[in-house]
Amino acid sequence: MSGFGIDHLPYGVFSAAGGERRVGVRFEDTVIDLYAATGRPEFAARSLNQFLALGPEVWRQTREEVAGLVVSGAASIPLADAILHLPIEVGDYVDFYASEHHASNVGRIFRPDQEPLLPNWKHLPVGYHGRSGTVVASGTEVVRPSGQRRAPADSEPTFGPSARLDIEAELGFVVGAPSALGDPVPYAAFSEHVFGVVGLNDWSARDIQAWEYVPLGPFLGKSFATSISHWVTPMASLDAAWCDLPVQDPTPLTYLGPGHVRGLDIDVEVVLNGEVVSRPPYRTMYWSPAQMLAHLTSNGASLRTGDLFGSGTISGPDPDERGSFLELSWGGQEPFGDGRTFLEDGDEVVLRYSAPGTGGGRITLGDVTGRIQPAR
Ligand code: CA
Repeated sequence: MSGFGIDHLPYGVFSAAGGERRVGVRFEDTVIDLYAATGRPEFAARSLNQFLALGPEVWRQTREEVAGLVVSGAASIPLADAILHLPIEVGDYVDFYASEHHASNVGRIFRPDQEPLLPNWKHLPVGYHGRSGTVVASGTEVVRPSGQRRAPADSEPTFGPSARLDIEAELGFVVGAPSALGDPVPYAAFSEHVFGVVGLNDWSARDIQAWEYVPLGPFLGKSFATSISHWVTPMASLDAAWCDLPVQDPTPLTYLGPGHVRGLDIDVEVVLNGEVVSRPPYRTMYWSPAQMLAHLTSNGASLRTGDLFGSGTISGPDPDERGSFLELSWGGQEPFGDGRTFLEDGDEVVLRYSAPGTGGGRITLGDVTGRIQPAR
């Protein structure tokens, strides 16, 4: 089972043999060249955006058409002959903080003398606007960022390479159909706007973050790189993965949904230098994707094709389900694995994702890899 069978068919952008970039669909260990197969101009493109902008009816029809191409075997090349690229031209990038376990752990680590969750946390999905220009494709090397930080024992800040470089294992949601400025997108309209999901690693420099984040939130501790998978898994292939999320108490305000909160049963694996160090379960998230979308447009902010919103770090209730090294090492005080706290130069991290498929087996979402290069 490859996880890339007929019930999956994720979209990406590839080039082969020095040719132009094109939109392709992965089936098993092949890539179907959609421009060669259909002649449709939106597939002779450097990103999925033109296709995504056409909206859900075209997405549905194209998925049927692609299933037919799989059967015929037309216009496919071996995956090994394809160079894979960033699949979308990223519009706006928003990152949420939707795991109660993650938010509670971080609260305990960063603010040990206070309640772990701040008063707003169970009333709205907390998030911030990130830097879309530094969203990179899986496999892109990550240069250790330098920045200003002040260790607890120091009286003055210093500038230098981050000593607490970390990952955040997340799921990213890709917006296809735009919305009009001034018009909130209701909770129930999620599937009219969101095309699919990507794996996402929100690389984070904890020492820079801890010093800079009060009072306006994440900035340079996050903006140096965010990696996403090459393959965008359509929501249509996740029909069997929807599940109930934990009960929300207190009941959120009406615009955040009817109180029956649906999420996705996606399993994540965090792999450090070939060893699985954590297995975060997406089904334990507190805020759902539809709630995040409703919240981020509740003020009338419009959606653009290619907008990306991240779930926030996925952490489950158990210690081996934590989606960041900050939590796995409890702020660097409790080394995990073979004595690990934060990332070292040369480390490679792979995030792997799988979910129930509509065919009864499991589908494998695109993975997200990155290797740490020394600071410059
Ligand atoms: Ca994050």
